[in-house]
Amino acid sequence: MNKKTAKTDSERVRHAVEVARSAHEGQFRKTGEPYIVHPLAVKKILEEWGMDEDTIIAGILHDTVEDTDLTLEDIRKEFGDSVAFLVDGVTKLSTARDGMRDIDTYLPATKDNFLRLMIALGDDIRVLIIKLADRLHNLRTLSALPPDKQKKIAKETLEIFAPLADRLNMGLLRVELSDLSFKYVDPRRFEELKKLIETRNKSAEKSLKKIEAEVTAALKKEKIKFELSGRVKSVYSLHKKLAKYDQNINAVYDLTALRVIVDDVTDCYLAMGVIHSLYTPMNGRIKDYIAMPKQNGYQSIHTTVITKDKHVVEFQIRTKEMHEYAERGLAASFYYNEQKLTENYKKGKIEHLPTNLLWITELQMTAAKLREGKKVDLKKLKINLFADKIFVYTPKGDIIDLPKGALPLDFAYRLHSEIGDHVVGVKINGKMSNLNKKLEQGDIVEILTSKNQTPKTSWLDRIITSHARTKLLHALRPSTIPDRPAKKKHK
Ligand code: MN
Repeated sequence: MNKKTAKTDSERVRHAVEVARSAHEGQFRKTGEPYIVHPLAVKKILEEWGMDEDTIIAGILHDTVEDTDLTLEDIRKEFGDSVAFLVDGVTKLSTARDGMRDIDTYLPATKDNFLRLMIALGDDIRVLIIKLADRLHNLRTLSALPPDKQKKIAKETLEIFAPLADRLNMGLLRVELSDLSFKYVDPRRFEELKKLIETRNKSAEKSLKKIEAEVTAALKKEKIKFELSGRVKSVYSLHKKLAKYDQNINAVYDLTALRVIVDDVTDCYLAMGVIHSLYTPMNGRIKDYIAMPKQNGYQSIHTTVITKDKHVVEFQIRTKEMHEYAERGLAASFYYNEQKLTENYKKGKIEHLPTNLLWITELQMTAAKLREGKKVDLKKLKINLFADKIFVYTPKGDIIDLPKGALPLDFAYRLHSEIGDHVVGVKINGKMSNLNKKLEQGDIVEILTSKNQTPKTSWLDRIITSHARTKLLHALRPSTIPDRPAKKKHK
């Protein structure tokens, strides 16, 4: 997936390698290798992800300030503000070798490691990417550590870094992080499930070949350009699925999956039609993540079908771009937006992020507030970060999904900004309530509005979703267009 094929290192990158090499001189890893092996491996991972030069340089230098005589000032002088900023960000975090070191000096007290990590990282998402590359290499070389440390780091990776990779839609990374970790956390189960997957795949091989041939012929007949490949389910995701389905392997329908990659969105739907005309789609197993992307921006059509020989196969249909994004996620958007990105970071903006990653904006705002010593309600942030959802109802019975902890104004702005802008009160389950009342699962929410109401700055404290925040901020912005005369028509 390396986009930058065989590009030679720039002068700056070569210089960074030399600086890191001499700084780490005489240090060794637990594997016995010279320490420089680690920063160079991180460099390579970041290059494979297509990251920009500053990020790569910061990756090379990421352990110098913490572990060597080199100072942040030295780095700033040699490589500029941006690199220094990134190295500082990574340094402020604990390293994998030490586990989650205390970052309380920097953060308000919270026991939630994920939250602490996210806030600390929130300032520049590239810090997070370096951290993930660092963690990936440390996991790949985890066997050199004593068993208790292996377990601790592996567990932490499963709990924090793999979900993080998932939130950023970095699919390949998520799979590698979770399978590497799971092997250390529960070696017996890992081997057991790995064998199970292999046996199942082996026995499905013949029928899968037949299905591939049938689908290939049918798609060709419709003149759809495509690539067809098998996708192997990760051990850890099977483990999680089995836990969900009472260990019943027959309930796991996506153990065998075929991936169809086509040129454009229209072809995705055409391909689905072709597949459905060949095999019977299973009731309730068509998922259109193209029309309705997942929270992390993942897009694809999933459909489970039953073949003539009664085999159950899942098809995943998507465009090349969607595929690229599903595998590399945030890193992929960085690659495509590199130029714009650098400019926007300088201006402190990250508007180019896909809408589904807008929680990152929220994180950055929170990090900035904390740094200025302002108070932040971490509970709200946490809830929003994990995107735990509740479902509430309009009086007409429409279902609205919101993050846990959402308030009436979040609900109102979700319905329509016209409604949000004119809220005067709220009825929850038929009773008058107030705008500070957290909505609960299953509440029936009725928003009371008045034409004369105008949006209030104080409402900013009474919303938790970035969607509502954006709408409200927009409404609060002084208009440059003179007010239109009041309409009289409808009187
Ligand atoms: Mn490191």
